[in-house]
Amino acid sequence: MTICASRIQRTLNAAHADHAANTTGANADYIPSLSTVDPNLFGIAVVTVAGEVIEAGDSRHEFALESISKVFTLALAMEDVGPQVIRAKVGADPTGLPFGSVMALELHGDKPLTPLVNAGALSTTSLVRASTPSQRWQRILKTQRAFAGRDISLSKEVDASEQSTNFHNRAIAWLLYSAGAMYADPMETCEVYTRQCSTMVTTTDLAVMGATLAAGGTNPVTGHRVIRDTYIPRILAEMTMEGLYDTSGDWAYTVGLPGKSGVGGGLLAVAPGRLAIAAFSPPLDPVGNSVRGCAAIAQIAHDLGLNLYQSPTPVRTSQAAPAPPGSST
Ligand code: GLU
Repeated sequence: MTICASRIQRTLNAAHADHAANTTGANADYIPSLSTVDPNLFGIAVVTVAGEVIEAGDSRHEFALESISKVFTLALAMEDVGPQVIRAKVGADPTGLPFGSVMALELHGDKPLTPLVNAGALSTTSLVRASTPSQRWQRILKTQRAFAGRDISLSKEVDASEQSTNFHNRAIAWLLYSAGAMYADPMETCEVYTRQCSTMVTTTDLAVMGATLAAGGTNPVTGHRVIRDTYIPRILAEMTMEGLYDTSGDWAYTVGLPGKSGVGGGLLAVAPGRLAIAAFSPPLDPVGNSVRGCAAIAQIAHDLGLNLYQSPTPVRTSQAAPAPPGSST
């Protein structure tokens, strides 16, 4: 069932108005350039599988893609090596631990479990086919651009800020290498991974990227196929398992849509076959999700009836329901 654009617009406007005054949370500061982004910025966008674009607030303001990049590098690696290799080498389970956890590797025999935490993302980036780091980076950028339908570009400032402070990720890359779970040079891979996090998108770009997943792998704005449709359920399953860091289960329980957040303040949720919702607001909760982004998307998903675990129409049974135990008839 399609939802008309005017209803979506009203829902977005209401969510923006309801959550704009929420000032809880704090910008990420372990990456210096993210700490200086204006915390009042707040954008929301929906893109439908028919290519309709609906926006509210600062939806055209650019921000760093960060961890959300992991979804699109996963898509490229899946095209390159196939879903079985991703499952075997990286995994498809939640870690239950923070995204930079080393303990998660120790606990699971050095298997990252998911491409959506840093260890698994580094491993996934190393699986992208390339003969040089520059070729690997260009292929990842090209994939991000195909999903966005626009020539999004690298922020040299964010990249420099991250490349000069990413010691923890470099340590994870070496741990993966020593465990045989890094499939290219570890330091070159870490540099490319850091760069893939430092591209700049608008909330609307992010919604187009998500709508490409919702539309089965064809970008609904450009009409170009970006990824094979049979891979989409695997990507969305990975997002359900680990897309919102350690609160992914709570998100599934309360919102019921695959999602992915990033420490730049972006958040994406995908309603397969229907639309994608994106939000951007820099202040984060303690695990790294945008506070306003989560609140706004949860409200929009609820108001538009998008929870995947909710039957779309009331279930009709041919017989009257049995009387509850213990009741007299
Ligand atoms: N570039 C960031 C890092 O690797 C991304 C983290 C995130 O957004 O979760 O730490």
